[in-house]
Amino acid sequence: MKHWIIAGPCAVESYDLFSETARAVKRAGATHLRGGLYKMRTHNASFQGLGSEGFQVVKAVKEETGLPYVCEITDPRQLAPLEEIVDCFQVGARNMHNTALLKELGRTQKPVILKRAFSAYYEEWVAAADYIRHAGNPHVILCERGIRTFETAVRNTLDLTSVVYMKLRHGLDVLVDPSHATGQKDLIPPLALAAMMAGAAGLMLEVHPRPKEALSDGPQALLPCDFHALIEQVMALYKHVPSSEKRDHSAAL
Ligand code: PEP
Ligand code: MN
Repeated sequence: MKHWIIAGPCAVESYDLFSETARAVKRAGATHLRGGLYKMRTHNASFQGLGSEGFQVVKAVKEETGLPYVCEITDPRQLAPLEEIVDCFQVGARNMHNTALLKELGRTQKPVILKRAFSAYYEEWVAAADYIRHAGNPHVILCERGIRTFETAVRNTLDLTSVVYMKLRHGLDVLVDPSHATGQKDLIPPLALAAMMAGAAGLMLEVHPRPKEALSDGPQALLPCDFHALIEQVMALYKHVPSSEKRDHSAAL
């Protein structure tokens, strides 16, 4: 399977947590490891991430697992130091409109996952991708992570139309993050499967071995065993996707 399965905790919390989670998601079939070092939290008092203090943890865990590492960048000044440890950058929903950051990401040749802002129109999202591309980095992949609508029962509303629209109208690949879209772990598996059937280039999923102890986003974290079961289902279902619909997303980046 050539799709990306990006998994890991919301944030790198400690060596033990990150190593344990990384080994588990690798065993279950993850292609990329995630875990934020710089968290953009609503409240200043909330855990903000380990920052550069987590670099050694990331290096050690990458060496142990061999998994490529995806990390959110929140400030243009982080580009040079993060380049040492990151295999794929992520622009979070809160920064999709941050043109200084987007331009800075034109200076790397590493792939950039560009998450959709809470209220971004499709054309604004494409325009944000253009900032990165025009600054010199063609390796941009979009990520649908839910938008704000009138619905308050879930954290965000997952818009799977964007996956189909971006592919058919713009030829752009879209990853889907049902974790931040729903905020509730039991809603994630069915939506992950639906996303793959809609033609998503892959999934981004938050996984934590002890969600109640998580420093951020515990309620949406899948247990490693639930993640494993979901990936098995994704693989089984993917066999039924017509081969004309299957694209090698690893080559696209
Ligand atoms: C994340 O992936 O850790 C994250 C904060 O996501 P988003 O930017 O979609 O809220
Ligand atoms: Mn999170």
